[in-house]
Amino acid sequence: MPEVNLYAGDEAAMLALGARIARVTGGRGVIYLHGDLGAGKTTLSRGLIRGFGHEGKVKSPTFTLVEPYELGEVQVFHFDLYRLVDPEELEFLGIRDYFEGNALCLIEWPERGAGILPKADMDITITPHEAGRTLRLSPHTARGEAWCVALTD
Ligand code: ADP
Ligand code: MG
Repeated sequence: MPEVNLYAGDEAAMLALGARIARVTGGRGVIYLHGDLGAGKTTLSRGLIRGFGHEGKVKSPTFTLVEPYELGEVQVFHFDLYRLVDPEELEFLGIRDYFEGNALCLIEWPERGAGILPKADMDITITPHEAGRTLRLSPHTARGEAWCVALTD
């Protein structure tokens, strides 16, 4: 399955892309978000979470490490592991429970949780390009491939 490349010219387009990705996932799976500080990982996550009908704030979980959202049938866990010192810390958060349920997990800075996090269905790498951002979507599982197929329809 080849990668899918998308472009978001501004923040509004990024939020719209998030909502589109939310729809194809159906609210289940694991997405790793890559990109430098300020790339737009939290913005894209906000678009995804709002895509499931969330109307309140989506704050960056930089200090809490994870923010849970209950959105009707869908459960989303938004992680930001930037401040994680040791992947073992994740064990204390009880993250196994998060990954055993039928939730969608969005994970910023997943490399900091290496060895503890489950495998990603898809990596999304965000890079600045002109005034906006390019998103490279790389699927790693049959589920991730199905998402990419749905996104290119
Ligand atoms: P990260 O979580 O990767 O550190 P954030 O999403 O917090 O990044 O911040 C990204 C910044 O870039 C915000 O100021 C946001 O308004 C802006 N931004 C997000 N997506 C785009 C885009 N597609 N084009 C231009 N600016 C964007
Ligand atoms: Mg962020």
